[in-house]
Amino acid sequence: MSYSSDAKTLDIQSALVSDFLAGFAILDQDGQNSGIAGHLTARIKDSERVLGHQYGLAFDEVDEHAVRLTDFDLEEAEQGQVSPSLAFHVALYRARPDIGAIVHTHPDQVIAFSATNGQFIPVFQSALMLYDQVVQYKDYDGIVESEALGQKFARHLGDRQILLLKNHGLISVGRSVRHAVCAAVIFHQNCHIQMEAMKTGIVQGFSKTADDPDILLQASAFLNRDHIIDMRWDHLVRRALA
Ligand SMILES: [Zn+2]
Repeated sequence: MSYSSDAKTLDIQSALVSDFLAGFAILDQDGQNSGIAGHLTARIKDSERVLGHQYGLAFDEVDEHAVRLTDFDLEEAEQGQVSPSLAFHVALYRARPDIGAIVHTHPDQVIAFSATNGQFIPVFQSALMLYDQVVQYKDYDGIVESEALGQKFARHLGDRQILLLKNHGLISVGRSVRHAVCAAVIFHQNCHIQMEAMKTGIVQGFSKTADDPDILLQASAFLNRDHIIDMRWDHLVRRALA
């Protein structure tokens, strides 16, 4: 990506920005719009800068003119360019150098599932990409605007990929925009299916007690391979932009 640290300009033709913009379209199409309250950010590789979007715009309104570049100090938040809630993204990026992108959304089915206090169980094969990767967060700490609260999220998340916020929504992290967005989409779908199964009173998803843990881990590793994520991503892009 061509990038001038002085002028804070960015190449809107870059692969990162292209994926970044597609990510908003995919999440919008997937029912994760979240109005003005959702976020998708992407770290500029090996830097303390992230891509965000203009505060106040919903995912369906984000185009190349709405992309914002901000330092970890979030000066751009004080100027109204990005959400002050990106403070928790900064905390997660600082805590986890492996994180390249973060999704935060509030899909109805995810909130409903969180309100049941139910434990996430992969209930379809593709959801095994999130096997042992979901952590519940049950505290309510008010509107998230501080890096300190982000540090608390980071401690709960550990080295995993999804934080399920009770009565709130999801945080999905990944080594790339593609990984973070695909995980958010699969997690959303699993919440929907698991809730359907819960109506019967019985949920028998994949588990290390009912299934061979090694096979579950092998399936998870397969589903997280870059070329599998890329194929899933390409389909999501086609679906979102059709
Ligand atoms: Zn939120």
